[in-house]
Amino acid sequence: MATVAPSLVRELRAICGEDGVITDPRQLVVYECDAYTMEKNLPDAVVLPGSTQQVVEVVKLCAAHKLPIIPRGTGTSLSGAVLAVDGGVVICTARLNRILSVDFRNRRALVEAGVPNLWITNAVKHRSLMFAPDPSSQPSCTIAGNIAFNAGGPHTLKYGVTTNHVLGFDLVLPSGEVVWLGSEPEGGEEVDGYDLRGVVIGSEGMFGIITRVVVRLIKAPPAFRTVLGVFDTMDDASRTVSDIIAAGLIPGAMELMDQPITRAVEEGFHVGLPLDAGAVLITELDGLEAGLDRQLQRVIEIYRMNRVREVRPAASAQERMDLWKCRKRAFGAIGRISPNFVTQDGVVPRTRLPEIMQFIYAICKERGLGVANVAHAGDGNIHPIIFYDERIPGDVEKAYACSIEIVRKCVELGGTVTGEHGIGVEKADLMAVQFSAADLDAMKRVRHAFDPEGRCNPHKMFPGGKRRLGFVPKRQIAA
Ligand SMILES: Cc1cc2nc3c(=O)[nH]c(=O)nc-3n(C[C@H](O)[C@H](O)[C@H](O)COP(=O)(O)OP(=O)(O)OC[C@H]3O[C@@H](n4cnc5c(N)ncnc54)[C@H](O)[C@@H]3O)c2cc1C
Repeated sequence: MATVAPSLVRELRAICGEDGVITDPRQLVVYECDAYTMEKNLPDAVVLPGSTQQVVEVVKLCAAHKLPIIPRGTGTSLSGAVLAVDGGVVICTARLNRILSVDFRNRRALVEAGVPNLWITNAVKHRSLMFAPDPSSQPSCTIAGNIAFNAGGPHTLKYGVTTNHVLGFDLVLPSGEVVWLGSEPEGGEEVDGYDLRGVVIGSEGMFGIITRVVVRLIKAPPAFRTVLGVFDTMDDASRTVSDIIAAGLIPGAMELMDQPITRAVEEGFHVGLPLDAGAVLITELDGLEAGLDRQLQRVIEIYRMNRVREVRPAASAQERMDLWKCRKRAFGAIGRISPNFVTQDGVVPRTRLPEIMQFIYAICKERGLGVANVAHAGDGNIHPIIFYDERIPGDVEKAYACSIEIVRKCVELGGTVTGEHGIGVEKADLMAVQFSAADLDAMKRVRHAFDPEGRCNPHKMFPGGKRRLGFVPKRQIAA
């Protein structure tokens, strides 16, 4: 366990200001985990720098004291990627939240690392532009968190993930040096040399701290057709997904919700979803107005071929927004059902969706755990949400084991361990299921080039790191 001496805390305060450093354990509890709550540990200190220069000074100070540093945005990671496994100093960039400039002519914007994803689109939508990656957490998750995880969202199917929409950024290396990777704020899109921008995207905060980012803006689609299909069985709904792609259609998004999650959303938000549906599938087509109705008809035909019970096309922009609200609030609705949950985000080839869904229900039933499913189905990216109660001895371990078996099954079916939530501590051991020892060694050597001391976000991503599974926070022992 790292310890932060009082003199160091004074130095951190001198850099970030009195209200920019947290060391009170009652306040540090906010930072004991991210949205993956199975493993928890208090950091020694949290700093909230307000400029790149403050980040540099904090990083240099921690380097001099050989302390672990943990970059953090708003902590919506679902894989324990910001867990301070050995304590150390969390460097939270959420206060770096200014949109610095928008270049409408060249369709790019320079933003600080802690800008929430949705703010970017909100700032440019009056010019019919958007920042395409749209994680369901987009009102709160930061652009730097998106880069660290190469985040996607419902519209990834058509528009790609973060790497396709981030042109460049600066990175404060664990030594305190600052480098700019990729396209410069005023530069062109093409850059020479190694694509280190691409290397850092997806590196889960293990290579340094991002403070400013150049994002690409794209034209927002002018027209949409969004249709909800109500199916009696999950099998029918998931088969519909691969049939739509096989028909040559590329919807903007295809999102699947099973009965437990549909019920939870309906009971929570009263949006008119059927409580007895086996599954609902939202398909959204977007692009130029001409041709969309024809594509919609084709989608509905395919729904019908797969025994859809009811088809509900959104009749207005408001109805479309309501459908998306249902999907994007799905995780929030779980609080009504279970005190704790863990979600996975393995990926399978789309055609294997029916198999993985059956496996998920069977394994959770076998272990006596409840489960609800949402999926970015067009990408084969599943999100089983497994319920547990951390107050019941053994429940944490049972839910963890169950979720790990699901991810192993994804790999067995030809898929991968994560689509977008990252590896973090949660899936670190599973990297060995997907990658060979030589693959992992190559990745470790790249990390070593950025962070030779291994102090930046330690114990993440690689098998054999320290775990804190089943850790019971002190306040609960006392209760
Ligand atoms: C309800 C809900 C829905 C979600 N839906 C989606 C979804 O649809 N798609 C998706 O991809 N994800 C989703 N997520 C996961 C998560 O929101 C995203 O991965 C998001 O990108 C994390 O951003 P953050 O700012 O919260 O980062 P954090 O959780 O704070 O950190 C995540 C990673 O980023 C690193 N990091 C953070 N800031 C910096 C920085 N300044 N420099 C370097 N590294 C940094 C951290 O070290 C860590 O490795 C969801 C999460 C929730 C809770």
